[in-house]
Amino acid sequence: MPSDPNHILEFPGGYTRSVGPVIGRFLSELRDGRLVGVRTRDGRVLVPPTEYDPDTGEDVTDEFVPVGPVGTVTTWSWVARPRKDHPLDRPFAWALVRMDGADTALLHALDLGVFDEGAAPPKFLKTGMRVRPRWRVERSGAIGDIECFQPEVTMITAPTRLEYRLRSGRALDRFLEGVSQGKIIGHRCDVCGQVIVPMKGLCPKDGVPTAQEVELPDTGTVTTFAVNNLPDPRAPEVPFVSAYILLDGAGLTMLSLVAGIPADQVRMGMRVKAKWRPREEWGKTMANIRWFEPLDEPDVPFDAIKDYL
Ligand SMILES: [Zn+2]
Repeated sequence: MPSDPNHILEFPGGYTRSVGPVIGRFLSELRDGRLVGVRTRDGRVLVPPTEYDPDTGEDVTDEFVPVGPVGTVTTWSWVARPRKDHPLDRPFAWALVRMDGADTALLHALDLGVFDEGAAPPKFLKTGMRVRPRWRVERSGAIGDIECFQPEVTMITAPTRLEYRLRSGRALDRFLEGVSQGKIIGHRCDVCGQVIVPMKGLCPKDGVPTAQEVELPDTGTVTTFAVNNLPDPRAPEVPFVSAYILLDGAGLTMLSLVAGIPADQVRMGMRVKAKWRPREEWGKTMANIRWFEPLDEPDVPFDAIKDYL
């Protein structure tokens, strides 16, 4: 792997120099939220595209080919302590990602949901891992229109479930008791004032114990989401969407399924409401909320949710 990946990011495809028709087309498609490659004379697809076939030096053809939306990590390098000029402010991997349908790989940042500075790479980070781009809402025709890549199936799902089991202490017990009565209860932190839900008995930001209960509505906003293609017993069908939802009034997102809308229409900023199971089926479990469904309300602007991503 490159010893100075930062240098590399500026190079492939010449993202920062004035662009010819090939790169220009690639960047225009990025702005529209699509990834395309260019076909070489011998039939390969280059992503990012170049004006010349790097192997033969020949001009490429004028055929552009849509690739993705999913790709495969071909190699990676872990950044445990991001620098100021890095695309993410928490540990991430530089990864070469070969989009489905492409013959070459694209270098980009891969977000694995690791937040502790200096942390080791998660075990599920592997060559061959399936990833997809996380697009910015506002795009300008630059490689940064893809904020980063993220795992195809949300790897963060598993740790979250694990947390429920491991920390099934009084706070969680109280939370589930609320859910068993159709209420969503959070804790307000005395230091930062934010409402943590599901509460854990302490503020993850300030590390102080929390006890002040606040009832939250069952409406919220999708911050980030992932389209999952592996069947899950909780999901209505494949593909399904798992999303981080910022409940109205909450200071932290919670993970849930989103349904009642085709997977490819789910978007950041979408307003949603909990779909509860029939009351007679309620138990002391998060499963009382089957999933979240779209509300007929305008999307929340990106600026209003960007601090919760
Ligand atoms: Zn706090």
